[in-house]
Amino acid sequence: MIKIIDGKAISKEIKDEVKEAVSGLKEQGITVSLAVIQVGNDPASGVYVGNKKKACEYCGIESVSYELAEETTQDELLTLIEKLNKDEKINGILVQLPLPKHMDEDAVIKAIAPIKDVDGFHPQSVGALCIGQPGFVSCTPAGIIELLKRSNVEIAGKECVVIGRSNIVGKPMAILLLRENGTVTITHSRTKDLKEVTKRADILVVAIGKPKMITREYVKEGAVVIDVGIHRNENNKLCGDVDFDDVAPVCSAITPVPGGVGPMTIAMLMKNCLTSVALMQNQ
Ligand code: NDP
Repeated sequence: MIKIIDGKAISKEIKDEVKEAVSGLKEQGITVSLAVIQVGNDPASGVYVGNKKKACEYCGIESVSYELAEETTQDELLTLIEKLNKDEKINGILVQLPLPKHMDEDAVIKAIAPIKDVDGFHPQSVGALCIGQPGFVSCTPAGIIELLKRSNVEIAGKECVVIGRSNIVGKPMAILLLRENGTVTITHSRTKDLKEVTKRADILVVAIGKPKMITREYVKEGAVVIDVGIHRNENNKLCGDVDFDDVAPVCSAITPVPGGVGPMTIAMLMKNCLTSVALMQNQ
């Protein structure tokens, strides 16, 4: 029987755990807080920021919003980040991407203090992940590992194929699967005969950014398929990178879109805010 991996339920489980931990910290007089910076008024970013604030509210995390005008200069943004880096009341700092074109995203990410880098994008966080040291992990791939573990999918010794090599999903995903002792292959737009590679996968993680590209021809019978993609189809309905109706009958477990990977990203952000409290206490 095919198992539909319920990201909504698992993300609620995680947020409830965070909520309990946050309330325990409150009893010790410690508040957990997240600074959320949005530059400009891109509607999609507005929705993401709104969802993050809602999740903070649910977990008892204080969210402090900075809504900056599109014309804000990079120096002004860096000055704000510097101020938040020094503010002991702020645990996590999140800069909603993409930033307006006149800003250098890499420079902005680098300006965030690594102990407050709840998105896990800072080069120090990425380096720590690669050499197996503690630190923040990018929320989407970290959420996928939680989805797999909490759905009792064994990773150790399994053939894991990741489609996509972006810095926020594909690469950290591959490192995390390796850390869990999977045998990992990363594929991308220059991979020759993609189907031949993906058909080897016991666990297939798809992060391509192309609606419904992955059909059953890419999937081994009985594989676990994780769909990271989010798109709106011609009827304005959400869909993923995987053609769910075509693939679901041949796999053993699959994440739907919506309700799969998406909700996990925000749940892991909440969890990362707790990690930040621990890192700040130990510095
Ligand atoms: P990017 O566009 O940064 O990366 C896409 C990757 O897919 C690239 O590495 C690219 O290869 C590869 N690719 C593109 N076309 C092909 C192809 N035909 N065959 C094989 N590989 C291909 O995307 P992201 O990683 O940022 O995001 C991927 C998807 O996940 C998007 O739909 C995005 O919206 C979604 N997403 C969802 C999140 C969530 O919370 N659920 C969070 C983040 C992203 P190359 O490097 O060679 O160009």
